[in-house]
Amino acid sequence: MDKFDLLISEEEISSKVKEVAAKISADYEGESVVVIGVLTGAFIFTADLVRALTVPVETIDFIQLSSYKGDKSTGNFVFKKDISTDINGKNILIVEDIVDTGRTLKKLREMLTMREPKSIKICTAFDKPSRRVNELVPDYNCFTIPDEFIVGYGLDYDGKYREFKDVRIVRTEDEQ
Ligand code: 5GP
Ligand code: MG
Repeated sequence: MDKFDLLISEEEISSKVKEVAAKISADYEGESVVVIGVLTGAFIFTADLVRALTVPVETIDFIQLSSYKGDKSTGNFVFKKDISTDINGKNILIVEDIVDTGRTLKKLREMLTMREPKSIKICTAFDKPSRRVNELVPDYNCFTIPDEFIVGYGLDYDGKYREFKDVRIVRTEDEQ
């Protein structure tokens, strides 16, 4: 059985998401935004964030990436699922669960920039800056966390634990 240590409570998440949504809404005042959630991990954060935004949301779409087999470290990705929205001339807010090395988001930002949106910003629920291998800095971040493997609030371990309302550090069987 895996064991867990609580890192961030449901209440802390809820109040921080509202705080970040208020900041985003203020920054986009007078504009509208297209929200793009990165599947699968960001599905819960995206749902909470959009319901806390006061700026008009033009549409909500999702994208899914997968790295080429055996090529994870180079940051080469393909779209497993592309968005069906034309983002040309739009304000894009990418919503991600966690930024770790930064490879995923750097590549995703490059790929979406080629479609010539008006602007692109990144909002992440969690950030592990100590793991970064490039210059990527999210525009909005709810929680900076240490270099630990977390689950819950959409994040999984081997497909499990996404439904936890809080965020926990997972201690897998091999670590115990
Ligand atoms: P990056 O390209 O920034 O290294 O990768 C980010 C992706 O790695 C996240 O979208 C997530 O899928 C996965 N990831 C990184 N750290 C964690 C973590 O602590 N827990 C879980 N569940 N996934 C993580
Ligand atoms: Mg992810």
